[in-house]
Amino acid sequence: MLEEHPFISGLFKRSVQLYFIVCSLVSPAGDTAAQHGHAFQISRFRDMSHSLHSLPKASAALVLGHPGHELRVYGWTHSVRPLTFVITDGSGTSGISRLNATTEILEKLGASIGTVYGRFTDRAIYETMLARSLDPLCEVVESIAAALIDAEIEMVVSDASEGYNPTHDICFELTQAAVELVRKRTHRTIHRYSFCLTEWEGCVPSQTAEDAIHLELDDACLYNKIEAARSYIELRDEVDRALACKGIEYFRKETLIPSAGWTTALENYKPGYEQRGEQRVANGRYTKVLRYKDHLLPIFRAIRHYVDQN
Ligand SMILES: [Zn+2]
Repeated sequence: MLEEHPFISGLFKRSVQLYFIVCSLVSPAGDTAAQHGHAFQISRFRDMSHSLHSLPKASAALVLGHPGHELRVYGWTHSVRPLTFVITDGSGTSGISRLNATTEILEKLGASIGTVYGRFTDRAIYETMLARSLDPLCEVVESIAAALIDAEIEMVVSDASEGYNPTHDICFELTQAAVELVRKRTHRTIHRYSFCLTEWEGCVPSQTAEDAIHLELDDACLYNKIEAARSYIELRDEVDRALACKGIEYFRKETLIPSAGWTTALENYKPGYEQRGEQRVANGRYTKVLRYKDHLLPIFRAIRHYVDQN
């Protein structure tokens, strides 16, 4: 069924970079899309004349390490209304969950909420990674995999593994594990993409892949995206920093990078979060550094082993 849709069939062909303009759910004047209808203008793809709104509701899934990441793929989320999973509650050091703010955005965009939604506090996932505790992570993988099978999901998008935040990186790996489990159990291939979150923090995105999907938001959608970001009080500092560094126009484009599989970093990889962890231990803010080689890599290997055995 999905292959029949021009968007999905084009996506599956992966022969061209895809640009399309995404309409807005709510216009700058505050009118709802239902009042105005949806009109997509799609370029560089000759036969793409249908509205993306005719896509079945949960043909795609979105897996986020933290609530708030949906803002980076706001236009895509509005287009395909993915089944959305969020690994942590984003409570950080404050201990206050920011899931409600994300739920409000997802509801406005018409996305549905998955079985994993704020499974860990930030403190709990940090402790889980430090302890290399596998069971709760495998539970998450199983839960996401079961939901992907139930909903017959064809495409999964997650945080990219950028070395900036271990929760983002483990989100990438848990998503990959869930997709692999689905493939093993159903013999179905799920198209797998990720998106960068921290280009303005010095991370270098690998967005040059020929089969990356590029979305270009129209003015109204960009306006709504920036308004949603500015209204996300818990992320005010991050949003201000991103806008100051990149400018509003930068966020018109959303890029989904095709993921070839598991994280491939070598043992001697030293991600940014490890360097910052060392500084925080030196400052007395943390007692222990979360390290790729000692913590993340053993977890990744154990999860891959789990997938092989199950
Ligand atoms: Zn995050």
